[in-house]
Amino acid sequence: MMKRVLTLVSLLLVAVITVTAQPKYIFLFIGDGLGINHVYGTELYNAAVHSDMPNGGAVSFSRFPIRTYVTNHSSSSLVTDSSAAATALASGVKTVNGYMGVDAEKRSVKNMTELVSELGMKVGVVTNVGMNHATPSAFFAHDESRSAYKSLYEQYLASEVDFAAGATILYRKRDGLQLEDYIAQAKDAKIEVVHDLNTAAKVRGKRVLLMPEKPKSKTLEYANDCQPGDWTIVDFTDVAIKYLEREAKREGFFLMVEAGHLDYCAHDNDAVTTFEEVNDLSESVQLALDFYNKHPEETLIIVTADHETGGLALGYSNYKMNMERLAWQRCSTLALTGKMRAMRERGETSWEQMQELLRKELGFWDNVRLRKKDEQLLRKTFEKSFVANNEEVVSLYSHNEKLAYVAVEILNKRAYIKWISLNHTGMQVPLYVKGAGIEHFYNCYDNTDIPKSIARSLGTTLGE
Ligand SMILES: [Zn+2]
Repeated sequence: MMKRVLTLVSLLLVAVITVTAQPKYIFLFIGDGLGINHVYGTELYNAAVHSDMPNGGAVSFSRFPIRTYVTNHSSSSLVTDSSAAATALASGVKTVNGYMGVDAEKRSVKNMTELVSELGMKVGVVTNVGMNHATPSAFFAHDESRSAYKSLYEQYLASEVDFAAGATILYRKRDGLQLEDYIAQAKDAKIEVVHDLNTAAKVRGKRVLLMPEKPKSKTLEYANDCQPGDWTIVDFTDVAIKYLEREAKREGFFLMVEAGHLDYCAHDNDAVTTFEEVNDLSESVQLALDFYNKHPEETLIIVTADHETGGLALGYSNYKMNMERLAWQRCSTLALTGKMRAMRERGETSWEQMQELLRKELGFWDNVRLRKKDEQLLRKTFEKSFVANNEEVVSLYSHNEKLAYVAVEILNKRAYIKWISLNHTGMQVPLYVKGAGIEHFYNCYDNTDIPKSIARSLGTTLGE
């Protein structure tokens, strides 16, 4: 009997120690395309290239108490796309690649925004790509097509999302409307459309859509292409926290932040740009950690990914990695493509002129010694694809100059980094959790377990 009482007491003690309060402030960060090697590669790159960074270049979430991995297959394939994965993360339900907020039978499934707004929480949905692109849309829309941008946007207008931010509103020409028309619709829905960060942080008592006044492209600039004054996902996260912190009532808020551009450069197999995008994600999570430090008993932070992009391999040959060689890359493959096309337009098509560009942007010859076969490949690609044919490497989101792709590939290989795919892979993805309600996340094995665990931490259910 005594033994039984003692066991009971010790069980109760364990319960007291491990059960945290119900979270009031919930942050869900989704790195689009963020594989386990994207995170570890960033840390190795930082240690080699950014020696001034704190904690030896570790990302802000790498020491969270839960640091595990989850499966992410969709119901139609072992390799998911962003909309099926986003539906799993937003609703806890598996669906077909390309479907958005509906199950495999095309029935609408309840999403996190619908769940937490019923509980009185304020909602923020933030991304550095289009605000109605796949990942954010799963938090406010239901459609059998992730490309039905008009419908996804209209569902945003009718949703409970209080604060939204993105690089632009995506739309299809065949729907007949222009960007101004979509912005006018937001104003009709009593949403304050704001084009500067300070104003967005100060809006009171109204829904906000923050986006550039004249979007230059469908995404914000890559971290390593940013000019002073360009917005990043860190800025959006900062403004969203300020808005939600002020607007939230005692029920608190839920904020989803997507580092969406990360997927694009991983599709381009551009390691340095990918690592710098991960650094921006890390900085955004740091803002949530700063918030956590003010409300440690009530804040829950989750960092995960929808899928891995590119099949990033670290140290593929010779028992070596030479990350310091990546220090010389000055811009993304996309920007390098732009510079090469500008040269072609100016008629600057000599090998010496191209060498000058590659010296400046990738450190070739002066700082990164090229092997003979690299040099031959570069020269051959220059003659064949840059001078003669305008050959491109086409990935999901970009058409890069083949020479730009090959040059960055050579630099990656000099660091002993290799990519196996221009697309998504079926690899498991990382999951990091910290804060109030953490005990609900110890049994996460699949991406659908994440929203289910968030719901359980709030004393309710989702997707089950
Ligand atoms: Zn992708």
